[in-house]
Amino acid sequence: MTERYAQVALPLPLADPYTYRIPSSLADRALPGARVVVPVRRREMVGVVVGVDVPPPPAAPRDLLAAPDADVALPPHLLELARQMSRYYGTPLGLTLRAMLPAALWGHSTVQLVLPEGRQTAVGGTAATLVRWLADRGGRGTVAAAARALKRPVWDVADRLQRVGALTLEVIPPDTSGGVATARVARMVGDPLTLVERDHRFKRAPRQRALYEALEARGGHAGVTQLLAAVDGTASSLNALAKSGLVELSTAEAPRDPFHDIAVSTQTPPPLTNDQLAALAALDVLPPGHASLLFGVTGSGKTRVYLDRIRHALDAGRGALLLVPEISLTPQTVGRVRSAFGAEVAVLHSGLSDGERADAWRALRSGARRIAIGARSAIFAPVRNLGVIVLDEEHEASYKNGEAPRYHARDVAAMRAHVEQATLILGSATPSLETWTRATEAGRVVRLPERVAAQPMPAVTLVDLRHEPQVEGVSGVPWTRVLDDAVTTSLSRGEQVLLLLNRRGWSAYVQCVSCGTVTECPNCSISLTVHRHPEMLRCHYCDYHEPVPTVCTICGGATPRSLGAGTQQLERLVAERFPQARVARMDLDTTTAKWSHHRILERVGRGEVDVLLGTQMIAKGLDFPNVTLVGVVDADTALHLPDFRAGERAFQLIAQVAGRAGRGPKGGRVVVQTRQPEHPALECAARHDVVSFLEIESTLRRSPAYPPHTALVHVVLSGPDRDAVARRAATVAEWCERTIARSELAVIVLGPAPCPVERIKDRWRMHLILKGASRDLGRWVRAAAPRLAGIRGDIRIAVDRDPVSLL
Ligand code: ADP
Ligand code: ZN
Repeated sequence: MTERYAQVALPLPLADPYTYRIPSSLADRALPGARVVVPVRRREMVGVVVGVDVPPPPAAPRDLLAAPDADVALPPHLLELARQMSRYYGTPLGLTLRAMLPAALWGHSTVQLVLPEGRQTAVGGTAATLVRWLADRGGRGTVAAAARALKRPVWDVADRLQRVGALTLEVIPPDTSGGVATARVARMVGDPLTLVERDHRFKRAPRQRALYEALEARGGHAGVTQLLAAVDGTASSLNALAKSGLVELSTAEAPRDPFHDIAVSTQTPPPLTNDQLAALAALDVLPPGHASLLFGVTGSGKTRVYLDRIRHALDAGRGALLLVPEISLTPQTVGRVRSAFGAEVAVLHSGLSDGERADAWRALRSGARRIAIGARSAIFAPVRNLGVIVLDEEHEASYKNGEAPRYHARDVAAMRAHVEQATLILGSATPSLETWTRATEAGRVVRLPERVAAQPMPAVTLVDLRHEPQVEGVSGVPWTRVLDDAVTTSLSRGEQVLLLLNRRGWSAYVQCVSCGTVTECPNCSISLTVHRHPEMLRCHYCDYHEPVPTVCTICGGATPRSLGAGTQQLERLVAERFPQARVARMDLDTTTAKWSHHRILERVGRGEVDVLLGTQMIAKGLDFPNVTLVGVVDADTALHLPDFRAGERAFQLIAQVAGRAGRGPKGGRVVVQTRQPEHPALECAARHDVVSFLEIESTLRRSPAYPPHTALVHVVLSGPDRDAVARRAATVAEWCERTIARSELAVIVLGPAPCPVERIKDRWRMHLILKGASRDLGRWVRAAAPRLAGIRGDIRIAVDRDPVSLL
């Protein structure tokens, strides 16, 4: 009998898969895409078979130990997708597969040693000890427990015993029971206190205030452990809060799936509009396997079109994937998909335990559910016989993965659509320049030019902060009469207001009035942000914090002043100017808990909030008909980042948040405060003129060339020692030049230069930017990235193809 061998990819940064012998007992299970347990040095790991009937390895081959699944974990087309991704991003296949399979399918399996029934084998030494240990325990035990008991690794012994049939290895799959745990929970009693009441009640109890506000941010309901951990709180502060009657403590079921009880509507949806029908007809005639752009203004009814395409796929016996930028920000979309398709839908969200995620994976894999909805990584959901992929808000940066493989879900979606001959729909009101260019050139743009029921787009007023006077008595926050009057009007009519200020905390930085020193983070080259409740200077990169200085640490001069107002200061201003309004703030500080966005949005939906203020989080996907005013407090925060996408991001942010206004019969308006009303991003956003903006932006990116007129690879080096990083960056740059020249590629190397954010978390950062045609860069990445990327010594090198930012 000839020996057969399998190649196994492991979730490790190894350039090539390892080769193992297939024992005859596993011959029917060791198929491409199957999970297998293999020995790696002295331990066992879960890997994925990526090839069978390959030549034997040069050194003595070891055996596959087990194959836990009756059906291969990764269907052939997902394995093919992994191969393409691995080549495209220059990432080892094992790391790519690790990103694709849920964590529980990799790590948590344990291997048990099992003595066959009624079989005695004469062995001596450690083998005998192991057999005796197992016999004492009823014939089975885990490899790890055995190693502990014998005080030595047992892998080699187990391996020998297995070869002579004295032992078998069993893989115990991860625990997938979604057991309901009980926990101590805290619940807020009554309506949230107003800011003024808080100042009064918590004057001498800042810790209680921090706890109270953390609880509020979690929708007034949270586990005690999580709550205390979130603010470094103490049980005594919490008990004091309970005694004061503001908070109630009890034992209850631990918080559950937030989508569990999401509003599901049973009403039949209204008929499609003519525009929607036309868009569907246009999508219908485009051949599958490629991306189409559904370019529809905010409120034009794109979601309805998605649902219809999904229905169409289901009717044809196929499955569907719906990707959203961040699932906790899109409860409304989830609700609509659930309403339409009920139990067909698997919602993949970050609140799932590893076991629940693995369950969802299996339900999709088996075909028990045919639709998956989720964020970036849902692009790998094993939907059977995939018919359509919808990627909503395709321009969002959150579709890009921050670690290797640094994939962009939109580009992976295109690969997957091609592999499975599925239809790919990219939806946006403000498409990225890359997608716009590609879709326009391919003639694959489908438009929804108007809002549903011919609702007009809201009028946008640009208010020039250089000329328009600040409202008297208000300092810190830019606040003009125009915006103030608009808020007053909306509130007096019982309508809702959104206020965007894309900067969290109290203020961006403190500066000494005498010497001008700005306090910076000692670990990152960035100014510290002022926060209140608790009062601290905080670093937004590494979370370093220190007390707010009362005198300048450099010159000992007068009280340093805070500049660049943030959302906390805005909240205070709104509370003071509009004391009767119910205000909610939404930013990273109020939404650290998993489902807090969701709860804040629910309150807005129920009309319990008059003014919702916050960072860019409030710009996304909300559809609240009673919002008649959107105010952009300081549009300039985003315009001047040292990044080629700064203008595009600023435009998208303003256009998206403006799109939240006037979605109901009462109409709406948008007020944008800026010092640069002539900036094309603002001017075009004010006119709702997306196409002009894209054309202007495209011209700007010709010289110097940026995507879509060239492709980019971003190489970032970081390490604790500045000089060492600089030296290494110079060597890497030379190596890049050499490898490029040798392969005769038309690629230029810019740098090395310090990154715009030169230091993060105590690591110095230098970067190189490679520019060239995508095909040339691709060839270079495929060959060079596996050799370059990774950690050597204390210097880390990341190779990022198609970066979304160069900061
Ligand atoms: P978009 O995703 O393009 O911003 P939505 O899909 O959220 O737009 O739709 C905007 C609003 O229009 C929603 O309130 C939705 O319920 C409503 N809507 C969508 N399609 C129709 C239709 N055919 N008839 C009536 N209302 C519709
Ligand atoms: Zn820092």
